[in-house]
Amino acid sequence: MTHILILGAGYAGIRSAKKLSKLVPGDTTIDLVDKNTDHVEKMSLHEIAAGTSTVKSMSFPIKDSINTDKVNFIQATVTKINKDEKTVSFSDHEDMSYDYLIIGLGFRSENFGLPGADEFSLVLQDIPTAEKIFETIEKNVANYKTSNDPKDLNIVVCGAGFTGVEILGELIDSTKKLQEKYGTPEINVTCLEMATRILPMFDEELADYAVEYLKKNNINLKTGSKIKEIQKDGVLYDDTEGNEHKDEANTIIWTVGVSGSDVMTESGFDVKRNRAVVTDYLNLESNPEIYVLGDVSASMDPESNRPYPTTAQLAIAQADVAAKNIVASIKNTNPEKFVYKSLGTIASLGQHTGIADMIIGGRHFKTKGGMAAHAKNFSKDKSILEVSNLKIALAKGKL
Ligand SMILES: Cc1cc2nc3c(=O)[nH]c(=O)nc-3n(C[C@H](O)[C@H](O)[C@H](O)COP(=O)(O)OP(=O)(O)OC[C@H]3O[C@@H](n4cnc5c(N)ncnc54)[C@H](O)[C@@H]3O)c2cc1C
Repeated sequence: MTHILILGAGYAGIRSAKKLSKLVPGDTTIDLVDKNTDHVEKMSLHEIAAGTSTVKSMSFPIKDSINTDKVNFIQATVTKINKDEKTVSFSDHEDMSYDYLIIGLGFRSENFGLPGADEFSLVLQDIPTAEKIFETIEKNVANYKTSNDPKDLNIVVCGAGFTGVEILGELIDSTKKLQEKYGTPEINVTCLEMATRILPMFDEELADYAVEYLKKNNINLKTGSKIKEIQKDGVLYDDTEGNEHKDEANTIIWTVGVSGSDVMTESGFDVKRNRAVVTDYLNLESNPEIYVLGDVSASMDPESNRPYPTTAQLAIAQADVAAKNIVASIKNTNPEKFVYKSLGTIASLGQHTGIADMIIGGRHFKTKGGMAAHAKNFSKDKSILEVSNLKIALAKGKL
């Protein structure tokens, strides 16, 4: 009897469970563990943070999306992987042993040790943190009536990476609604970004479209701003000339970067930003029975010799190959090398527009505006289908 243990029911974990349940020999046990009972579509978290979508629309019970005859779901929180003993420890469950382990524990926000970031800024990494962002925005806007404090109407987003830009797009819509609801003067949204050219994963024309769209909609995008400190009531930064400024705000959102789960470092894996380098077969050189997928893995792109950017799309593609390779190992057949064919990148700018660089049959198709928003909705629906089933996809889908 072979025991496969999967940690995390995000994109990587749940997709591996689905694939394995179809491929493994009959005498195999598959356990899928997550600290939550629901799977969350993390690629939509920014919508909860800005108040443009609900938790219900982007989550579903893990048990509903797997074949429970083949996969046991266990709710438990992983604290440590004991790779030498081939066991996993939990804060709320007895230790579990495994023959094969899949680690798909996902990301957390990374503050790079910036003073004040932990204490005074709001991170975006899961449902509770996303909800806290919108609660804070709304509480401060509502408070303006009695406080008359302009800081209650100021929001600063730190970082104009992919997540930062997607939040800014949603805030264009939601701040207008809040302003109307609470009868306040304009809500001011500023974004501080160190780079002078944002969204480097897109070509200049698409990135410029995004910048123009944000600026046209009153987002105060300050590129070339080096954040030095987060304070209770604002953000301290230097401009490109080295002059210090402070943007005052009572809502400060931190979207500067992410790392993999801390469990990786705490378990003694050789990691960089909590991500372990995997072989071409997606397992560890030192422990071939351990497969590391999604945001906790550093899967190398042979062309750039750098890890592929961590995305849900990558996590799902890795899960398919890892599942096949575990079955190959059980059956003593040849494993498959992981070859990643990206389908491209799409960034939303609110619910109705965006920028897209899609790759179909090796060719790039670039688009912006409403078409890109449709493409984004299609890509979300596709990922829901890939980790669940038609019934859930139809219930959650936007198209
Ligand atoms: C705002 C935003 C927009 C994004 N947009 C896109 C996009 O358009 N396209 C795209 O491809 N990617 C996008 N991404 C990236 C994508 O969401 C991640 O790359 C993806 O979620 C990684 O999948 P994963 O399976 O590795 O981890 P996750 O989806 O994070 O899942 C990890 C799972 O592990 C569980 N877990 C964590 N710690 C523990 C523990 N200690 N014990 C038990 N369980 C635990 C969690 O509950 C979770 O279910 C976006 C991300 C963000 C934040």
